[in-house]
Amino acid sequence: MSKLQPVLFNIGWNACINCGACVAICPQEAGFVSPFDTIAVDRPCDIACLLCEQICPVETITHVPVERLNGSAVAVDR
Ligand code: SF4
Repeated sequence: MSKLQPVLFNIGWNACINCGACVAICPQEAGFVSPFDTIAVDRPCDIACLLCEQICPVETITHVPVERLNGSAVAVDR
C-alpha cells in the first residue's frame, strides 16, 4: 500500500481571477480555503488529488511535494 505524499500549493496571485473553481472542486472544501477564497497555500494538503490544478482556468496553481518534520512542512525531491 502506497503512502500519500502531501503537497504544498502555490498560486500565482497576479494571474488568479478569483473564480472559486479550485475551492468548489476541492474534496476538503471549507477546511482548505485561504482568506482570498482560493485553496489554502499556507499548509500542506494531504489528499493531493490535484483536481484544483487541473480545473484552474488560468493554470496558475502549482505544487511541491512535502514531508512533515517537527510540525513544519519541508519540500522534498521526488
Ligand atoms: S481556480 Fe485558479 S483562478 Fe480560480 S480561484 Fe483558484 S487559483 Fe484562482
